[in-house]
Amino acid sequence: MRILFVTSECYPLVKTGGLADVSAALPPALARAGADVRLLLPGYPAVLKGLSGLAPVGDPIPDLPGMAGAAPRMLLGLMPDGTPAYALDAPTLFGRPGNPYMGPDGRDWPDNAQRFAALAWAAAAFTAPAGLDPWWRPDVLHAHDWQAGLVPAYLRLRPDRFGSEQRPGTVLTIHNIAYQGQFPPWTMGDIHLPSSAYAMDGVEYYGGVGYLKAGCYYADRLTTVSPTYSQEIQTDEQGAGLEGLLSVRAGRLSGILNGVDYGVWDPARDPLLPAPYSAEDMGGKAVCKTALQEAFGLERAAARPLAAVVSRLTWHKGLDLVLEAAGAWVAGGGQLAVLGTGEPWMEQGFRQLAAWHPGSVGVRIGYDEGLSHRLQAGADLLLVPSRSEPCGLTQLYALKYGTLPLVRRTGGLADTVIDATPAAVNDGAATGFSFGAATVREISFCLRRALALYRRPDRWQAIARHAMTRDFGWEAPAREYLELYRAAQADAA
Ligand code: ADP
Repeated sequence: MRILFVTSECYPLVKTGGLADVSAALPPALARAGADVRLLLPGYPAVLKGLSGLAPVGDPIPDLPGMAGAAPRMLLGLMPDGTPAYALDAPTLFGRPGNPYMGPDGRDWPDNAQRFAALAWAAAAFTAPAGLDPWWRPDVLHAHDWQAGLVPAYLRLRPDRFGSEQRPGTVLTIHNIAYQGQFPPWTMGDIHLPSSAYAMDGVEYYGGVGYLKAGCYYADRLTTVSPTYSQEIQTDEQGAGLEGLLSVRAGRLSGILNGVDYGVWDPARDPLLPAPYSAEDMGGKAVCKTALQEAFGLERAAARPLAAVVSRLTWHKGLDLVLEAAGAWVAGGGQLAVLGTGEPWMEQGFRQLAAWHPGSVGVRIGYDEGLSHRLQAGADLLLVPSRSEPCGLTQLYALKYGTLPLVRRTGGLADTVIDATPAAVNDGAATGFSFGAATVREISFCLRRALALYRRPDRWQAIARHAMTRDFGWEAPAREYLELYRAAQADAA
């Protein structure tokens, strides 16, 4: 099966968020499972520089939105890991360094509507009767986020341009519903859609053109990055305006968890740690803890439970709850080590907390890959009290490192951490701790439960070992996506 993976970012070439990691990891996993997958990326400078062996394929594209007169080419090359990738070589749209969506002034590029309509149009052109690449025609187009939201709309609304005997199936994945690609109504004049599509049963969204909405309306299948998140986005609280449409399409919507790259995140062979360890031999973890206590200026005490935070410091990550609950945690004997950057008030709050509790709370404001690994390894507990979390990665790393995640039950956190209730502990199923409401009372109670369990080292160790054996690699998700592609293809037939 041939899959065109349409994405606006891909690690290590361009990254602003989790989409880049998924775009880097899922295509190779699909290829290992037998699919023929190619990426389609905008031709940003970093993409044209980072792809090797770039050469033009097919004819220039004469009618790309936003490109009056010019006819850009499609190039084909290889990602550093060997995954084939097309790049849309349209310098007037994408030849801008830096952040892919914003100018140096921090504002969205004023022509984002045209830029990402062009990306989607180019994706659709692969399916035209003449075919953009005469040697390769996709069976399924997998579009990601609002930037590729128009892909399914073009296939459905422009059969005159893209119609062929067998329309490919379309899948849209929503990585974070907060970003929707909402543009003014006059965008319709630029994006080559019939004016009749400007309707509630179409691309119209709250008085403008919604790219994510368009994808949600026209794609054969919809996915999000965890089963719980796929339910949550059908509610008023977390649907961000799309809940109505998503509820109507619930039968076509599913959640598939993101995976972890265990080539990078495995305490047995992580070169960034002071000592390796595994579920069979946990000795190195104690060495990692002592080193971490030293690095954060904490008392070197093996018996004190050490909680870590590795996160963007924002309200939606729920870390204000940690600020408020920290006093009681420290009073109960706990320590806290925080690595993050984000909103200034929260950074200041954590600095203040460290000043109040010398030896018990240590804070590093900044982004530090190596330190994030050492925190995962050296801590006993990882706190992820997010108010919303489509999938979340840090809790998955923590499980692998035998560091028990303490999470709020939302999105992917709810799907990946099994709370240490007495029953789950007795069954040997528990892998961490979770709480329901985003309140200080609930997180504090949960922290107290963790503290109590920590005083039973045999039980704690058993849970940690069990957590380390959980498999959240990409193989299972890749199989689920393949199944979904087959379903999308059947829908389109
Ligand atoms: P989100 O994408 O919402 O920020 P995720 O849990 O999905 O949350 O992914 C966050 C990623 O960023 C993880 O890989 C985490 O280790 C990393 N990260 C976050 N903050 C930092 C930091 N200050 N230093 C190093 N890595 C960080």
